[in-house]
Amino acid sequence: MSSARKKLVIGNWKMFKNATSASSDFSDFSNLIASQAHNIEVGIAAPSVFLADLVRKTQNSVTLYAQNSHWAPEGAFTGEVSAPMLKSMGVSGSLVAHSERRQMFGETNETAGARVGALIGAGMKAVLCVGETLEQREKGQLKEILKQQIEKAIQASGIKHASEILGADPLRPLLSIAYEPVWAIGTGKAATSVEAQEAHAFIREVLSNCFNKETSEKLKIIYGGSVKLNNIHEFISCPDVDGGLVGGASLVPKDFYDLCMKCC
Ligand code: PGA
Repeated sequence: MSSARKKLVIGNWKMFKNATSASSDFSDFSNLIASQAHNIEVGIAAPSVFLADLVRKTQNSVTLYAQNSHWAPEGAFTGEVSAPMLKSMGVSGSLVAHSERRQMFGETNETAGARVGALIGAGMKAVLCVGETLEQREKGQLKEILKQQIEKAIQASGIKHASEILGADPLRPLLSIAYEPVWAIGTGKAATSVEAQEAHAFIREVLSNCFNKETSEKLKIIYGGSVKLNNIHEFISCPDVDGGLVGGASLVPKDFYDLCMKCC
């Protein structure tokens, strides 16, 4: 079944770059991607202040994501950005509940779910990030944590039917999951492909219970945490790994392009 899912690779720029470097790096990267025939879906999750500029440069070759979006369409939420605002700019979706937001900005499974619901409700893509800390893994809580993170978020999203997350294009469902073990993010210590496959297969099982088996087979589950040019292939060779969420290795356009091409 995995071959039916188009690979998805998203660069997470986190809080890096400035207006000038974001603009030129994005242009360089989208030119490279547009120059090559390929069968993968490529995205960049950029700081929201740069999105209006970047959206004009995508050439339809790179999907633009925010790194966070609010659950309310509008309101008294100083400093926040909503899904309809992003949509009105031409942004396609957003990451949700990256572990840095869970750890530093009070993100919970419930707020994560509400954000997912708002994005999907606006017809946008949501990439829900999940993953265990080292302590949780060492205590044998991996499956329990992943199950809670997904089930509670889906419950809080208000999504009732699989058709809501599948969207119009069967190759590009609106909901994707990023499995990012916290201990592997930015540490240079990636999970092994065996560890990633085990977690991804379990996540697919959880999604199957939340929706149904057929839907779970259509959803993309991408791996993140110290993904590099020299290890991406190991991950995408796993039957349940459908691509990558790439932080540090997405910052230099040519390097990230080379990494994406390894997924073709
Ligand atoms: P990393 O970050 O690739 O630098 O480990 C991944 C992420 O946080 O999404």
